[in-house]
Amino acid sequence: MDWRIVLTGTGTSHGNPPWGYPDWWSTDPRDLRRRSGAILLGPRGEVVLLDVGPDLLHQLRDPFRTWDGRSYPSDCIVRCDGVLLTHDHADHCHGLNDLRHVNRLMGGKDIPIHGAAGHLEALRTMFPYCFITALEAYQHARPALTTATLEMDQPFTLAGLDCIAFAMSHGPAGVTTGFRCGNLAYLTDLKDLPVAADRHLRGLDLLVLDMLRAEPHPTHLCWAEAQAMIARLQPRRTVLTHMGPEVRHADWVPRLPPGVVMAVDGQVETFSA
Ligand SMILES: [Zn+2]
Ligand SMILES: [Zn+2]
Repeated sequence: MDWRIVLTGTGTSHGNPPWGYPDWWSTDPRDLRRRSGAILLGPRGEVVLLDVGPDLLHQLRDPFRTWDGRSYPSDCIVRCDGVLLTHDHADHCHGLNDLRHVNRLMGGKDIPIHGAAGHLEALRTMFPYCFITALEAYQHARPALTTATLEMDQPFTLAGLDCIAFAMSHGPAGVTTGFRCGNLAYLTDLKDLPVAADRHLRGLDLLVLDMLRAEPHPTHLCWAEAQAMIARLQPRRTVLTHMGPEVRHADWVPRLPPGVVMAVDGQVETFSA
């Protein structure tokens, strides 16, 4: 049965466009990007979050960016069956506290965070109040979370969706986790993909891929590197994400080859499970 991915945030760590840089400003709404994140929606109402970045509240309240800002946001997300965490950088996890409202919407139910051992340890260090229940002062002011350590290269199921996690290089920034979920792969914040991961990435319907900008960068794929990755993995369709502010949507549309599109916040794509 088909699932959907909503690309709720498609910008790099500062969000786009950054204020204070008039030359980088864009009036094209497609260049207005929240911090990186996505939501997987299952056929029976399942909801899986890919990362919980600083714009999480906005991503959950208005995932498709269709809200007028005044009326009730009827497309809002009121449930979460689990989070798949790519890594512990601020732009991917500092919205953790916003899960507290989702706990409340689910009658206090815990939300499991699935991540690599090192990334989960970093979350516990950054947010002890979320994980150390002995901290009495926060008893009524913390999200209800559990952690589930991912075994790399081992299949697992989340909300009925077959998934596999594998390690990727974020350059000097360390290691990130890539995910295959059904016939979708979500590879963000990578500089290099170990060859050992290729066996998990055959026959993809959809590849969501980090592409920061045209020029090389020490911790992210640039356009030339993204093209090489697409040629290597041969997905049916690719969506580029985690763009920097210098990437203007209108300038890039003509240069993208068939089967490759640039993500816009709120964009929805379908993939088979
Ligand atoms: Zn990032
Ligand atoms: Zn990162």
